[in-house]
Formats: sequence, structure tokens, C-alpha cells
Amino acid sequence: MLQFDLIATEGLARRGRLRLNHGVVETPIFMPVGTYGTVKGVLPQSLRDMGAQIILGNTFHLWLRPGLDVIRAFGGLHRFEGWHAPILTDSGGFQVWSLGEMRRISEEGVRFASPVNGDKLFLTPEVSMQIQTVLDSDIVMQFDECTPYETRGHLTTESEARASMELSLRWARRCVTEFERLGNRNALFGIVQGGMFESLREASLEALVALDLPGYAIGGVSVGEPKEDMRRIVAHTPHRLPAHKPRYLMGVGTPEDLVEGVACGVDMFDCVMPTRNARNGHLFTRHGDLRIRNARHKADEAPIDETCGCHTCASGVSRAYLHHLDRCGEMLGPMLTSIHNLHFYLNLMHEMRQALEQGRFAAWRVGFAADRARGV
Ligand SMILES: [Zn+2]
Repeated sequence: MLQFDLIATEGLARRGRLRLNHGVVETPIFMPVGTYGTVKGVLPQSLRDMGAQIILGNTFHLWLRPGLDVIRAFGGLHRFEGWHAPILTDSGGFQVWSLGEMRRISEEGVRFASPVNGDKLFLTPEVSMQIQTVLDSDIVMQFDECTPYETRGHLTTESEARASMELSLRWARRCVTEFERLGNRNALFGIVQGGMFESLREASLEALVALDLPGYAIGGVSVGEPKEDMRRIVAHTPHRLPAHKPRYLMGVGTPEDLVEGVACGVDMFDCVMPTRNARNGHLFTRHGDLRIRNARHKADEAPIDETCGCHTCASGVSRAYLHHLDRCGEMLGPMLTSIHNLHFYLNLMHEMRQALEQGRFAAWRVGFAADRARGV
């Protein structure tokens, strides 16, 4: 089930509410990434405390480990990982694509050797739907081919991007058929592809809209293209999608990318950046980014961000302590910094939702940019 209501709009930006089988999601929203059934280093209770409403799981990885028999015995991913709110799973397409030379794509699907034990595996649109049905994901993503920015050492040409986009469309139709055959009662999203070509994006979008899916994603961005190409596609596609359905920009991005995406009409985001960067000592703050490994933090008694209400900042953890934990490779370090970065992203979305409700998103955006440019 999926119901989406628009509560307020300002320009192309939207404030909405998404009802899914495992709960309600206020949009625009950021979705923390829980690849292996865990948002790395963060307790499920901490995720709830910081206001996470929906998290991601990864079809490809969960298929390989623990495997579907285990998840099936638990009645789905929610109970298995102790997260009882909505979950979105990707289709596995992106991970298969990332295997590079180790996979072979055909019309039928993708053959590859398991990176875990070398088993020969075959992932098809039908198998992806079957796995995501066992996972009981609230939002199921269609199996697609993520068109790369570069193909065999050259920029992907228009005809290569067209062939890839058309394959994804044929796979989308097979996903719809299998999803219905399985009697899945969650929501299947289509993914707009087309590389860096607006005309292909429009063709992809038009064909997917004809399938009347409950939501749509914009895929194939943040795949190594220059920032200006990403901005061009993010400005192009979202507002062309049906206004009464949720729009999800996959794998993006920095805090500024999220603000830009919302301004262009995107409702949902996911990205590994807050957690991955936290593990690398890269922290996001209201006044710019902070590198905790920098020697100037060695005796720095300040919290990461004095304006932050996250558990780490509010409990008085200093930059000096985080610098020390990082230098010693202590596991508490990335746990504390992941909480901070995720809280920063979730709070950013919360602020945008409030600003949209109050009709002051444009003014908020100017203020946020000025704050971020000030420097830590
Ligand atoms: Zn904090």
C-alpha cells in the first residue's frame, strides 16, 4: 500500500506525507543506508531517537547473506533487523553493475559469480521481485541497469545510453508482471534512466509513467559525472514526474545537493555519505565541514557543532576526544560520528519540511547557504 499526500508546495519544492505498510514518512526525507541490514555502527534505537523514518536495505547483499531462508523464517527484514518502521530496498542492479568485469548482462538478466563464495548466480527482474517480496520491503525498486557515465574508457554515447535505458524499461515491465503475480501488497517504484541525455530521460519517464507505478526514482546520477551534469539532470527530471506521486533521487549526496534536490521537487534521498564520511573523520556541521583528523582538534574542547542536538554533541563529547578515538582506531569513534552526521542530515530535512509548511523555504535556503559558508 502507498498513499501520498501533498501538504504544501513552494516553487517546485514539496512537503508531503507518505503512508506505507509499516508506517508514515514525512517528506522531504533522507533515508539512512543499511546495506547489510544494519546502518553501520548505529543502534536501531539511536536511529529512532534521531528521527529516522525509513531506512534502506540491500537486495543483493541480503540475498547472498544471510540468504532468503533466514529472512523468510523471520517473516521479513523488519523483524530480522529489529526495525519496525518502513524499509526501502534497492533492486540489486547497482551492486551487480559495480562488479564490473565479473558480470555478464543479457536481455534475460545478469549472470555473475558471488563475491562471497564464487557461486554462479543469475539475477533477473523476476528474481529481484521475489527477493524483495521475501524481504517485505515497503518500497520495492524495479530491477534496472544503472547507465554508467563512462563505458569502456569513453563517455557513454547517446546510443549506448538509449540501449541501456530501453533495457531498463523492458525490465520494468517484467518487474510489474512478477510483482503482481507474487501478490505483493507493498509499493513498486520505477527508475528513470537515460544517462546524461535529457531526451532519453524524457522517453524513459514517459514510458514508466504509462505503467502507472505508485512512485518514481531518478537513477544513474552520482555515478562519477561532473557536478554540473548532475545538477543539470536533477533540475531536468523531477518536476516532469507525476505531481501526486513521490519522487526519489537515488544515491545523492552532500547537504547542498539535498537542498538543491528539494528545490527541484525531489521528495526522498539516500546516500552513504553521512555514515561513510563519519567513519573517515569527515563531519558535517551548520558552519561547514570539519575534519576531525586535523591536528588542530587535538586539544579542542568544543563539541562537533554547538548548534547540534544529536546524542554525541548534546552529551558533551569533545572534538579532542573524537580526534583521540580516531587516532587509536577505537570503534566508539565512528559510532559517535555516524550518529552526528546522520542527525545532521535528518535535521536538515526536518528544517526543510518546517520551512515549506511555513512558506519560507526560499528564505531558509539563503540562510542555510550563508551558515554553511561561514566556516567551522
Ligand atoms: Zn551532533
